[in-house]
Amino acid sequence: MKRIVILGAGESGTGAAVLAKKQGFEVFVSDMSEIKEEYKTLLNANSIIWEEKKHSENEILNADEVVKSPGIPDKAPIIKKLLAQNTPVISEIEFAGRYTKAKMICITGSNGKTTTTMLVYHLLKNAGLNVGLAGNVGQSLALQVATAAFDYYVVELSSFQLDGMTEFKADIAILLNITPDHLDRYDYNFQNYVDSKFRITQNQTEADAFIFWENDPIIKAELEKRHIQSTMYPFAIERNEKTKAFIEKDELIIKTLKTLFSMPVSELAIKGLHNTYNSMAAGLAASIVNVRKENIRQSLQDFQGVEHRLEYVATVKNIRFINDSKATNVNSCWYALQSMKTRVVLILGGTDKGNDYTEIEELVKEKVSGLILIGLDNKPLHEYFDSKIEHIIDVQSMEAAVKEAYNMATEGETVLLSPCCASFDLFKNYEDRGKQFKQCVREL
Ligand code: ADP
Repeated sequence: MKRIVILGAGESGTGAAVLAKKQGFEVFVSDMSEIKEEYKTLLNANSIIWEEKKHSENEILNADEVVKSPGIPDKAPIIKKLLAQNTPVISEIEFAGRYTKAKMICITGSNGKTTTTMLVYHLLKNAGLNVGLAGNVGQSLALQVATAAFDYYVVELSSFQLDGMTEFKADIAILLNITPDHLDRYDYNFQNYVDSKFRITQNQTEADAFIFWENDPIIKAELEKRHIQSTMYPFAIERNEKTKAFIEKDELIIKTLKTLFSMPVSELAIKGLHNTYNSMAAGLAASIVNVRKENIRQSLQDFQGVEHRLEYVATVKNIRFINDSKATNVNSCWYALQSMKTRVVLILGGTDKGNDYTEIEELVKEKVSGLILIGLDNKPLHEYFDSKIEHIIDVQSMEAAVKEAYNMATEGETVLLSPCCASFDLFKNYEDRGKQFKQCVREL
């Protein structure tokens, strides 16, 4: 019997284990950390053997195939050993993809994945399609393949998941954008990260769709080097002869062989230039699976957005508060600032991943009346902004950040939490940071 070893017992690992067991494999699960109670229960309920807080090599190196959690880097000693002895190491999505005939709509990019994934799901679900949501959001694909029978899956894919995929094919692939991120996992070689993102198109044929942002300089350069077989659906603000979704006279237009769709940009539920891109990508995907125009329009209008992504919190004394805690890199903060219609008090800082703030310098000069720096080490931010911005205040807690921002802002301004940085110095994660922000605002 084929032996499948699963490394990492989080959402994707336990899902893969359940599916592997169902398929009749010998299954072993190993996690270096403590396994959450809910996952232990699920593993036990399926009679799956597991271990935690260690990797027993004698139980792992004899695997025929290994399914690795995207959180484990290739540099981890156990992975190095497996690769050295040529044991295939794949991702949960690759594994799950073998056991379903459902159509796969897969979304990747440096920014906007979750928003676009949720939006595509909303579009398909509202149109009455039998659709599941998987990948980085919601339940793992593997668990759903094991326990449900969907016709479509909308799957959010990080570059780490894509790295472990070779045979998997997306019927519809969406590549939103590529900007430097996670370079620590790619030997500080940007091309490795780009190659990983382009795996979203692997195995596609002319019968499959590739939706991408036409004006992304990295994607553009890459397309010149590659021979992609897929049917192309580029989107952009300005149209050229190949563009399939674009803006004309303040209308979002989708124009393919099958569809001619339009609606006013002002009616899109999620605001800002970046969200216009996300809406175009999602609208294209929906039109490719034949969602009717009325349904596309309705869903693009009533989508609720996703928590911590340019989320409106409240207005206090005519000062608006916006939670963009998920902006953990400089590019997403650029889009947040770009979409602001008023002057802004910007809260930023946290764990700096070697950020270059040049990208937001102009927008900061143009729109920002003051900065609140929230982090244990604000030195890199001071070095960059001290000579450029007059009002800068350091804080070490969200309570102080919100209080100082509220004092600094004048009526009609916006207080924006869009930190450009990871949150691990002062918070559990970006969700915790965003929740604390909202709580503090509500207590003003
Ligand atoms: P991801 O899942 O790729 O991290 P999210 O949808 O969670 O993306 O959004 C992360 C951050 O990026 C948020 O601050 C959001 O406002 C911003 N963002 C969303 N879509 C885009 C886009 N298309 N381009 C740039 N930034 C975006």
